[in-house]
Amino acid sequence: MVKEGRNVNTRSRDARKVDGKNAVLSRSGGDRGFSLVEMVVAISVFAVMMAVVIPHLLGIGVKAQAIACEQNQRMIRAALSEYYLEHHSYPTGDSETQLQALVTDGLLDSVPQDPSGGTYDITDTDPSSVTVDCSVHGSLGDDGK
Ligand SMILES: [Zn+2]
Repeated sequence: MVKEGRNVNTRSRDARKVDGKNAVLSRSGGDRGFSLVEMVVAISVFAVMMAVVIPHLLGIGVKAQAIACEQNQRMIRAALSEYYLEHHSYPTGDSETQLQALVTDGLLDSVPQDPSGGTYDITDTDPSSVTVDCSVHGSLGDDGK
């Protein structure tokens, strides 16, 4: 019984060795690497995927920047309203100075930065309708208070 078991084990090990050899032999035969047609097909599929995916991703990026800009503008308008309630006037100076005054008053954590590199322009010539404009995105989310 014991001998037979050993024999079976030895035989299966030999079989594995042979299988391994066969695998190596067939790999070193005609199957090495990819054929030119396979490469062309793979590259074409990849190119088509990129052509579809990249513009989509870029579009999402632009949309996300506009949404972030809109949030900044809403935040600035809200801070300006709050400033007006406290001081009965809007901060003076150019837009940069006004934004800094909102930060100094603790109404903004920091001067909001436009994600697309634009600058925010505050127009308060008419105290009843203050506008915030982005040099890149224009006025967004202005729901008339
Ligand atoms: Zn913007």
